[in-house]
Amino acid sequence: MQDIRGVWKENYPLKNLNWFKVGGNAEYFFAPTDVADLVFFLKNRPMDLPITVLGAGSNVLVSDNGVRGVVVRLNNLDNCYVMEGGKIFAEAGALNMSVSNLALRNNQGGFEFLSGIPGSIGGAITMNAGSFGREFCDVCVSVSALTLNGEMLNLSVQDMGFTYRKNGISEPLIFISATMQGFSDTAENIKSKMDDIKTKREETQPKKVLTGGSTFANPASHKAWELIDKVGLRGYKIGDAGYSDKHCNFIINYGNATAADIEQLILEAQKRVFKEFGIELHSEIKFIK
Ligand SMILES: Cc1cc2nc3c(=O)[nH]c(=O)nc-3n(C[C@H](O)[C@H](O)[C@H](O)COP(=O)(O)OP(=O)(O)OC[C@H]3O[C@@H](n4cnc5c(N)ncnc54)[C@H](O)[C@@H]3O)c2cc1C
Repeated sequence: MQDIRGVWKENYPLKNLNWFKVGGNAEYFFAPTDVADLVFFLKNRPMDLPITVLGAGSNVLVSDNGVRGVVVRLNNLDNCYVMEGGKIFAEAGALNMSVSNLALRNNQGGFEFLSGIPGSIGGAITMNAGSFGREFCDVCVSVSALTLNGEMLNLSVQDMGFTYRKNGISEPLIFISATMQGFSDTAENIKSKMDDIKTKREETQPKKVLTGGSTFANPASHKAWELIDKVGLRGYKIGDAGYSDKHCNFIINYGNATAADIEQLILEAQKRVFKEFGIELHSEIKFIK
């Protein structure tokens, strides 16, 4: 693509850009330099090229056959700062951890939960990411987004229609930033909550593994991990992928798994849980192809 300023590649490997470390290449890959670069691209791109946005890759399963069209990654849009009046502004490529550390340095409580979620703000907006009783919608004031034609939208938290692990926007959008609001707190309190979250995660989740986090959203009044456990899938493997022994809603790539192995594991749990309990498990992990 002529006249864009960011990184543009053809046939670009995505394996190292997702937490499972699986999958093929993007037909095209674009990491815009800034918002203006992204707008220019959207207004001038060949309209028949599908667009897929990739955040930090902690919640995606990239197909072994790669991804058709352009994969857009906003890693260069990673500014975050405290605005006048105490609200926090973050671009979509900023990591959740950077935002919770910024909040800590500025005595802003309420962002501690983000410290344990290994994604970007763009991913947190998309997934209404949450843990330990708080979710992105609890801190979100508004979101800026681009339509695939490059038009800028400003959406209030109500417009976003957040529910459990999703937002209510039906049109495909590229989220570019969020304005967030916490509350005044002492650094000591904030740090202690962050430490607590770290300890709880280390107790319950497998560490230093290749995973996409929770595979399934919890169905109403059930825990996905309990259902997976009850149908005998704790530790169950297909190829080099398997349900974790420690937290069986996590699928782990033990080294050389393929996206197909992981997809088979997902289907196996859905099949068994539906057969045994009549409950449909919905994948939290987004399939990218
Ligand atoms: C070890 C581990 C623990 C986890 N724990 C939690 C947890 O406690 N709570 C929780 O909620 N999640 C958890 N997750 C899942 C994951 O971290 C979150 O869903 C996170 O919000 C995903 O962000 P990401 O930047 O990695 O997005 P990606 O995985 O890259 O993308 C996820 C989806 O968001 C879309 N997307 C990303 N950025 C944008 C954008 N700018 N505009 C439009 N669409 C976009 C992608 O197209 C994709 O559909 C965990 C994952 C791991 C690996």
